[in-house]
Amino acid sequence: MVLLSGGLDSSTCLAMAREQGFVCHALTVTYGQRHQVELDAARRVAAALGATEHKEIAVDLGLFGGSALTDDIEVPKGRSEADISHGIPVTYVPARNTVFLSLALAWAEALDASDIFIGVNALDYSGYPDCRPEFIMAFENLANLATAMATEQGRRIRVHAPLIRMSKAQIIQAGLALGLDYGLTHSCYDPLGDGRPCGACDSCLLRAKGFAEAGITDPLWGP
Ligand code: ZN
Repeated sequence: MVLLSGGLDSSTCLAMAREQGFVCHALTVTYGQRHQVELDAARRVAAALGATEHKEIAVDLGLFGGSALTDDIEVPKGRSEADISHGIPVTYVPARNTVFLSLALAWAEALDASDIFIGVNALDYSGYPDCRPEFIMAFENLANLATAMATEQGRRIRVHAPLIRMSKAQIIQAGLALGLDYGLTHSCYDPLGDGRPCGACDSCLLRAKGFAEAGITDPLWGP
């Protein structure tokens, strides 16, 4: 069970899960985000990486708002690296990864699958609390208390977060080594009307920093 947003991190995570020999079922959650073009990216990546099955589930977190990604709040642009690495920005979506992992756990248990992959990253990231190793470990504990698969059948559920301690450059290099075409992915929080990335939001800036550090041209921007 792989959570797939269509972004750089989750796409790399899917490539890694496949490389480890898992039969991959990809789950994309549409949650009322501004960046609907991510969904097209998720479909392209799932197809390109040979996911056995790709499901999309709609959970409208925009009903609650409280985030620049789901509400009428401006997405910050052009922030410095120091600003990005401090505090929790308005692009944080309340409890998003808890909701996502809960949905992934539900499908995983229905499939009789005990391995869940999520592409969170706690190094080159935006300071979201639900991207940290402590959170992943806590959710894994919860999964093993919450399901019949764990409590009745004695199956140990594992939440894999293979990118959690990698830099963006390392993630990009790992994905390229696995044959992932990053031109299929999409990272921008606030794309332009025609779907192109804005180039200035935190996500665009972290992606650009990763490609620069890896010494590679981002195929989204071309040579
Ligand atoms: Zn952007």
